[in-house]
Amino acid sequence: MSTLVQGETGQWEVVIGMEVHAQVIEESKLFSGASTKFGAEPNTQVSLVDAAMPGMLPVLNERAVEQAVKTGLGLNSQINKHSVFARKNYFYPDLPQGYQISQYDQPIVGKGKIEIDLKDGQTKEIGITRLHLEQDAGKSVHDQHPSKSYVDLNRSGCALMEIVSEPDIRGAEEATAYLSKLRMILRYLGTCDGNMEEGSMRADVNVSVRKPGDNLGTRAEIKNVNSVKAVQMAVEYEVARQIALIEGGGKVVQETRLWDPDKGETRSMRSKEEAHDYRYFPDPDLLPLELSEELIEKVRKTLPELPDQKKHRFVEKFGLSGYDANVLIAEKERADYFEDVAKGRDAKQAANWVINELLGILNKNGIEITDSPVKAAQLGGLIDLITDNTISGKIAKDVFAEMYKTGKDAAAIVEEKGLKQVTDTGAIEKIVDAVIAANPDNVAAYKSGKDKLFGFFVGQVMKETQGKANPAVVNELLKKKLS
Ligand code: ADP
Ligand code: MG
Repeated sequence: MSTLVQGETGQWEVVIGMEVHAQVIEESKLFSGASTKFGAEPNTQVSLVDAAMPGMLPVLNERAVEQAVKTGLGLNSQINKHSVFARKNYFYPDLPQGYQISQYDQPIVGKGKIEIDLKDGQTKEIGITRLHLEQDAGKSVHDQHPSKSYVDLNRSGCALMEIVSEPDIRGAEEATAYLSKLRMILRYLGTCDGNMEEGSMRADVNVSVRKPGDNLGTRAEIKNVNSVKAVQMAVEYEVARQIALIEGGGKVVQETRLWDPDKGETRSMRSKEEAHDYRYFPDPDLLPLELSEELIEKVRKTLPELPDQKKHRFVEKFGLSGYDANVLIAEKERADYFEDVAKGRDAKQAANWVINELLGILNKNGIEITDSPVKAAQLGGLIDLITDNTISGKIAKDVFAEMYKTGKDAAAIVEEKGLKQVTDTGAIEKIVDAVIAANPDNVAAYKSGKDKLFGFFVGQVMKETQGKANPAVVNELLKKKLS
């Protein structure tokens, strides 16, 4: 698939690298014991360390470190046994220390890669440059008072992972696929909840364009893009802006831009700051972080099966298409549900029911699979009734709708409504005979070569039996009697 964009002077290649901030799932902050719970009253979760009182010393939270290691392993990345916390100095009212404790030239996680899934079924590898741990800042609140601003420090000091990609991403589709995949991996790992609306995950998107084969162009960095959809729109806008600018004789300046979702445009926020603007230096309050082999191995043992492994297993073990496998692994809970249904049953049939029927109606009603009124065991029970010929696949769809409405088991509904399939050949034969006798004209037409009328006869028999006749038996009897 070509990812080139047509301009007036020919084709352009889009180059993107992303920096994603992901809030670590952990009860307490990176360097203090204060709670990280979302939604508490302002300034109720602030320790003396988070408020930067003089003389307070940061104490590194081991569990947050383990979460970063786990994430690094899940991103197939190098874990650095030696890393260093550094002060990144800048002034901001919601940053009481006057600096952020971050990592600079020696991050906890180094190079790695992840695989992204593209719409045409292709996959592509995107390089991970690094992952480092850092503190989040507090929040300035400007909309509570006509002339004053407030500061809420609850978020101050919460652990963030910044995950930086190589400039391997080409275009908006790959950018959204990358963000979606990254989010999926973090959610599987349980290291970040990926909740972009609450700000637990946000992306800085670096975009540049070049003529194929040229060196990298100058990039603009779009800050704090907070949904997958916004990434797509911001990239599309920014690419068009840069191409028009260059083709009009202008130059892209390296700067930080903001995505305005209301106007659907990016606009300049500030000129790009350089690393030296931050006067990074190793934080003298913290020793270098040394990770033991035992700790890394302990964390490695807690790794769950990750999305790509699950996908490959679904394709190989169950014979599913890559597309179906992707739908099923999109959420871990969804994959677990499918596996419960598929256990001891035909996996493709189970996948069809989960994807087409169950997810169809759940999505329509905005319900999570964990809250599904039809549980995995119940859907399995329905499939069993099809397999042992108790009901036809067609009747099963009605039964499923009833199960969804009432939460009852399939067998109970079939019993209650008398939906059992009629497989008794004698009973079906009587109906077949009656249908043939009632339609002499069609019988004659069929016999003179209008083969399509066969479907008419099947339909009539099904109608007479309210769809309960075993289709195979009906077909066989009709063939015999009409020949
Ligand atoms: P900084 O930390 O100053 O923002 P980095 O060199 O760490 O700069 O790069 C940040 C991100 O920008 C990375 O994801 C990287 O892949 C991406 N990037 C670097 N150069 C380009 C470019 N020319 N076009 C697009 N993305 C780029
Ligand atoms: Mg940056």
